[in-house]
Amino acid sequence: MTLLSTIENKRCLVTGGAGFIGSHLVDRLLNQGAGVTVVDDLSLGRTANLAHHLGNPRFSLVTGSVTDSRLLADLVVEHQVIFHLAAVVGVKHVLDDPLNTLHVNVEGTRVVLMEAFKHQTRTVVVSSSEVYGKSRHIPFSESDDLVLGPSSAPRWSYAVSKLYGEHLAMALAPQGLPVTIVRYFNAYGPRLAGDGYGSVVAKFIVQALTGQPLTVHDDGCQKRGFTYVADTVAGTQAAALSDRAVGRVYNIGSQEHVRIVDLAQTILDLTGSKSKIIHVPARSVFGPNFEDINLRGADGTRASQELGFTAQIPIHQGLAQTISWFKDQGY
Ligand code: UDP
Repeated sequence: MTLLSTIENKRCLVTGGAGFIGSHLVDRLLNQGAGVTVVDDLSLGRTANLAHHLGNPRFSLVTGSVTDSRLLADLVVEHQVIFHLAAVVGVKHVLDDPLNTLHVNVEGTRVVLMEAFKHQTRTVVVSSSEVYGKSRHIPFSESDDLVLGPSSAPRWSYAVSKLYGEHLAMALAPQGLPVTIVRYFNAYGPRLAGDGYGSVVAKFIVQALTGQPLTVHDDGCQKRGFTYVADTVAGTQAAALSDRAVGRVYNIGSQEHVRIVDLAQTILDLTGSKSKIIHVPARSVFGPNFEDINLRGADGTRASQELGFTAQIPIHQGLAQTISWFKDQGY
């Protein structure tokens, strides 16, 4: 089993590396002297997110799916570290196509982990705070029970697909796979998709910059630990570099828990937009079976103690940087 003390000169495979979070992880790894191969089917990922690395001899982009076991067999053998981010993500994508969500997230993770297992490759599997579901034990800590809704509500297919990956990783770790699981909490930042399919942060910023009302669901008292993407990828790298993290799960999230209605107001303040805030029922947007999550916030104790990771960027600063990026995109 190969553990790591540094990422410099390591050959890293980033699945989903053309996506919003994946591309920031690629930036970080290349900046620190690693070699990086991205495998991405470009369904949600965009080559534009990686355009600044094309031509870098330490970087390559392979277009393909993590469900392609032959492709993954060829790629995994050539790398020393795997960051597995490729997945169908985003509530709207999951609700639009739960079958594809289950297929890509379950089968893709199975393929990646079984190939990693053959070579005992250091692997970080990305999971989600969504797995805590409706737990009322705020903030969520890694040893908490997970409280999911019924299978008739398609939202939970995403949490179940991520939990499958966690359990597979947990089953392989005692067999020798050096694997760590990270649970992301509402990452946001530059390169978020502005099409309304991604985070509420992108949706509100686009609404504010284009003079549309900001559509707060229900009373807007739902809370999230919005985490700036630079923090998210710092925590992800810390997980790969910690020997103690093998066979462990870590929350990677901000300790600042923000109400959605306050997020909307902050975005109005930072953009100077004259848009109004309106309240709309979430079920009128996502259908009658939709279940929202009222409170979601990370307990960061384990990540702090064992990885030395704490999210650093305050929400105002992260939002200002994100708004500036959206303006540069012409919004
Ligand atoms: N939300 C909202 N207005 C929107 C989109 C989302 O009020 O136009 C709410 C959503 O109902 C949830 C929160 O914002 O309570 C975060 O939604 P997102 O889809 O970003 O992520 P989630 O944490 O639900 O996976």
